Amino acid sequence: MLEPTDLTVRATDGLHTTFGTVATVVGRAPGRVNLIGEHTDYNAGLVLPVALPHATYAAAAPRADGVVRIASAQEPEPFTGHVDELGPEIDGWAAYVAGVLWTLREAGLVSGGLDMYLESSVPLGAGLSSSASVECATAMAALGVAGRALDEDLQRAVVAAGIRAETEVAKAPTGGMDQSVAVFAEAGGALLIDFASGEHRSVPLALGDRTVLVTDTRVKHQLTDGGYASRRAQCEKAAADLGLRSLREATVEQVETLDDDLVRRRARHIVTEIARVEPTVSALGAGDWAAIGELFAASHASMRDDFEISVPELDLAVATAVDAGADGARMTGGGFGGSIVSILPAAAVEAVSGAIDKAFAEAGYGAPGHLIASPSAGAMFTEVTR
Ligand code: ADP
Ligand code: MG
Repeated sequence: MLEPTDLTVRATDGLHTTFGTVATVVGRAPGRVNLIGEHTDYNAGLVLPVALPHATYAAAAPRADGVVRIASAQEPEPFTGHVDELGPEIDGWAAYVAGVLWTLREAGLVSGGLDMYLESSVPLGAGLSSSASVECATAMAALGVAGRALDEDLQRAVVAAGIRAETEVAKAPTGGMDQSVAVFAEAGGALLIDFASGEHRSVPLALGDRTVLVTDTRVKHQLTDGGYASRRAQCEKAAADLGLRSLREATVEQVETLDDDLVRRRARHIVTEIARVEPTVSALGAGDWAAIGELFAASHASMRDDFEISVPELDLAVATAVDAGADGARMTGGGFGGSIVSILPAAAVEAVSGAIDKAFAEAGYGAPGHLIASPSAGAMFTEVTR
């Protein structure tokens, strides 16, 4: 993985090489891995993500003419527009970037043009939220360029601007977990977020000799192709059939009364998954790795059988990780591909990652990628001094 200083230099150099512009600000926002609580954010439930050390860096400088030029090391075609003409009709990757400039402008937080260059160490489309990472890095850079001071109100505005860009411009109907953790994560902790109250708190992770390993199956998910939206609609139907505002208010017994088998299974995943989050916080605090194993196994089975968002590559990676010595493993993120998360003794990382590589080769799958998720801090911007 490239270090933060390398990525900052790459972003500022990229801005200069691409546009001939000298950066005044660099925004940074991390990707994330969710430890537990999947598809619960848009059901007013609980989630427990960790910010990755992998992050997007956005180097930027103001322009007096209102022009917006954005390029990314991860995408071939730059975006060009004018700040007064931005709107929800922005296609492709720029939806996540120019889309945020539009939503920030709508919120009255930025008004001028800028040049921006993005560089990232978050794998794209791996279920590790490169999307929220790029949205929040963009927002941080734009707010830095606008001369704003970062306080909690502004942090909340960044989360909101990212969610609006993702849902209204990129048209991926995700909940708010990714932007919340990208902004509010604290180094060394996971972020427990309650989407009923809107509150969040950092849960220190005393991992001891344990490590969080992420394995990217490299099966590309696509959150805009309908699988995610259909799950969301089924959850809303379940809540409506039960006469509830959201599935957060439902009990397992109530869910079992739902007539439609599909809707019942979708709702059962949400209700049981929400109920697994606080026990996971307790087990992590107590170093009860056997309990983590059970909670992760139940979560994975629920996503595979009831919510039906797993794929064979995720199932194989999870089973292999546990066989090779992980305390627990489960698929993580929106599903239909992407990554798994394992908690395991640090001494077992080589054995577990090697076993997954071997199992994938034997199954005829492409090679997966592995990364260590040491819990990292949320988004910020720094002024470039010279
Ligand atoms: P995930 O968030 O799991 O990585 P998504 O499909 O939600 O996957 O978001 C991935 C998309 O976000 C990419 O296809 C691209 O459009 C955009 N994106 C992410 N990172 C960058 C980046 N560094 N530069 C440009 N676009 C990016
Ligand atoms: Mg995403």
